[in-house]
Amino acid sequence: MLDAGFFAAWVEEAARSVLAGKDRLTRLDTAIGDGDHGTNLDRGLTAAVQALADHRPATPGALLVLVGGTLIRRVGGASGPLYGTAFREAGKALGEEPEVSPGALAGALEAAVDGVRSLGSAAEGDKTMVDALAPAVRALAQAVREGRDVREALDAAAAAARGGAEATVPMQARKGRASYLGPRSVGHEDPGAASAALLVEALRTVAARW
Ligand code: ADP
Ligand code: MG
Repeated sequence: MLDAGFFAAWVEEAARSVLAGKDRLTRLDTAIGDGDHGTNLDRGLTAAVQALADHRPATPGALLVLVGGTLIRRVGGASGPLYGTAFREAGKALGEEPEVSPGALAGALEAAVDGVRSLGSAAEGDKTMVDALAPAVRALAQAVREGRDVREALDAAAAAARGGAEATVPMQARKGRASYLGPRSVGHEDPGAASAALLVEALRTVAARW
């Protein structure tokens, strides 16, 4: 079972990983956007870690809702509301349980991706964070259904997220700032898909030492 400590550790690991990957995210967003994605997300996750240090909610659901609200206020750009909604929807789906099962985690991440899809109306193949998140959530749900433990399930999710991010390279962007470039958006990994893969990989990292 996964408690609030697990989710706090995830947010901390995600913040570390985005800080370490900030220059790469910025490079990717410079190629097909405005170069702010690494800075945006680093600022938001740093604020989220600080918010949890100031007051850590007792339940996974409340913790993720707090993180989502912080990201909405602090990240900015297109990705702030999208990631903020993702965390809030995941938190709402977890409800008020003090500990949640891997199956509940999978359900919460499905709610997160649904939230991103309904806010940004991006489908898979549009070259956005959805291209990393959707396959990751599918892989996680499938692994849980097959009865695999949370580590194996999150290994599968992390691999699917990274594969999904890499698969955005040949895509032409149909949503967000990169879509303004038309065919010139082809040949670059989408920055939001790259950061989404970091977030899922951070979850895997935390589960591996849990
Ligand atoms: P901005 O484009 O406003 O500068 P960021 O650079 O922080 O915002 O984030 C860009 C990322 O946001 C893109 O790489 C893409 O993955 C994601 N994104 C943009 N628009 C959408 C959308 N409508 N649906 C899903 N993701 C989107
Ligand atoms: Mg940008």
